[in-house]
Amino acid sequence: MRVLVVGGGGREHAIVWKLAQSPKVDKIYCAPGNAGIALDAECVPIKAEDIEGICAFAKENQVDLAVIGPEVPLAMGIVDELEKTGITVFGPNKKCSQLEASKAFTKSFLERHQIPTAGYKEFTDKQELLEAAGLFGYPMVLKADGLAAGKGVVIAENEEDAKKAIEEMMGDRVFGSAGDKVVVEEFLTGVEASMLCFVDEHTIVPMESAQDYKRIYDGDQGPNTGGMGTYSPSLVFDNALEEQIREEILIPTLKGFQSDGLDFKGVLFIGLMISKDGPKVIEFNNRFGDPEAQSVLARLDSDLLDIFLAVTENRLADVEITWSDKKAVCVVLASGGYPGSYEKGKEITGLEKVDSDVVVFHAGTASEHICDEQSCRSAVVTSGGRVLGVTAIGNTHEQAREKAFDNVKRISFDGMQYRNDIGIINSNLL
Ligand code: ATP
Repeated sequence: MRVLVVGGGGREHAIVWKLAQSPKVDKIYCAPGNAGIALDAECVPIKAEDIEGICAFAKENQVDLAVIGPEVPLAMGIVDELEKTGITVFGPNKKCSQLEASKAFTKSFLERHQIPTAGYKEFTDKQELLEAAGLFGYPMVLKADGLAAGKGVVIAENEEDAKKAIEEMMGDRVFGSAGDKVVVEEFLTGVEASMLCFVDEHTIVPMESAQDYKRIYDGDQGPNTGGMGTYSPSLVFDNALEEQIREEILIPTLKGFQSDGLDFKGVLFIGLMISKDGPKVIEFNNRFGDPEAQSVLARLDSDLLDIFLAVTENRLADVEITWSDKKAVCVVLASGGYPGSYEKGKEITGLEKVDSDVVVFHAGTASEHICDEQSCRSAVVTSGGRVLGVTAIGNTHEQAREKAFDNVKRISFDGMQYRNDIGIINSNLL
């Protein structure tokens, strides 16, 4: 089989790495990929948002299956376009992709199907929203409706902050058209956790859980990031909670998809708040989380290609999905300055010193020819905010954590930063 993976981050590296283990896969292309993905796949210089270019490439190279990693091409309708050219695709179509691309769409879906979530109201008029400051009290949760690369949510502590955020979203339009509509939500308290599921038109199957770390600094301090690490399985879930989520969220979601004509095929990422009143949905994403994919796929025993194909053919219910009992920890190494501005092009050293049973998933990396006083050589350099995800497996969380950090210390680049507390099981969490 010839597979094309679209995207070029840590999530896509994890997908490529796992697909490369399948005996049924003959060839993997990745558009655009990165320096690490290039070890397992042929990277082609086509941007993930260049839908026309990707369709032409897939057709020309007789791709049997395309797998879409990031949310932007999904929201642009890449799946519909690839399917029009006769390519089989793993990923939701444009209609279903609204579940991530529009928060108002998701809130109305959740309310209509009585799936537990925070109360909400949507606004398209700035003045009306300014007058509603404090609706549901403070902190006030304000969300730009559209995609904003994880930055479109403001939790305003008081009226002054709320009005400033409203001005920025609807007046200055800092999120562009993504902020033309703003969703205001009730503030939820509890423990956050996420659940990734494989979904086809008849079945929803949760994957093994993972716990992510959103803030940049240890102890959950500092600004939000795309994710600084994960461990799997998450200790937030137990059997009773999983059963409650199945009954109250997963089954009604699948039924909702069916009754609304949403023929979802792909990965549904459910962001949850485990509150005192039970689990509530914070958000849906319609693709693997990054870096959740790294620690979860590291524990998948089954052939990922079999699962992807089963989803595209609506026979997910027939596939047995098995997971390793081992634990995984993924530590993200980021550029200095991230999530603010950062420099690129820093040479990464020490990758060859990493143990063979530890996987370094590449996110923002590129290959470059570097010449200095000593020599000219081909080198791996930084090219993004999140650069690498060092993923280790162990019999216990502690073993996986020790192994991951032992290997993290062998890698270096100018300005490298990471959290030291990834995988420390914090009893405050539970
Ligand atoms: P990301 O891409 O980072 O997942 P997003 O922009 O899609 O984020 P959400 O996941 O909806 O937005 O919200 C981001 C974060 O804001 C959540 O992870 C959570 O910490 C907080 N948050 C969102 N909604 C609420 C709420 N109703 N009550 C309390 N906190 C919330």
